[in-house]
Amino acid sequence: MKVTKVDHIGIAVNNMDEALAFYRDTLGIISTGTEVIEEQKVKVAFLPLGDTELELLESTAPDGPVAKFIEKRGEGIQHIALRVDNIEEALAELKEKDFKLIDQQPRYGAGNARIAFLHPKATGGILLELSERK
Ligand code: ZN
Repeated sequence: MKVTKVDHIGIAVNNMDEALAFYRDTLGIISTGTEVIEEQKVKVAFLPLGDTELELLESTAPDGPVAKFIEKRGEGIQHIALRVDNIEEALAELKEKDFKLIDQQPRYGAGNARIAFLHPKATGGILLELSERK
């Protein structure tokens, strides 16, 4: 498996418009757009920053994973995504090591990525996302 960089940091927010205003007006970080991922019940905004990105996540439903995260732990960093050059290869390698995965197969991620989450119980409490982008 080849991990090449921090692809993005996922941040759970209650109110996307307020969060975007904070990053824009206070820090001068501009979003390049938003996308709704129906399957994950989440609206995502991308804020490119150097060679990585912040990813703001607002739940679109009270039972979505981001809503549940905020309910339990409050707003804040929800996951860290690592860029891999080949996600199939990475998942195969992890399965071979009996690593605890949330996603057995890559699925669609915001920004046209192919992603898979690793289980926080196996990563020292961090929800890690593997992300492959062409
Ligand atoms: Zn992400």
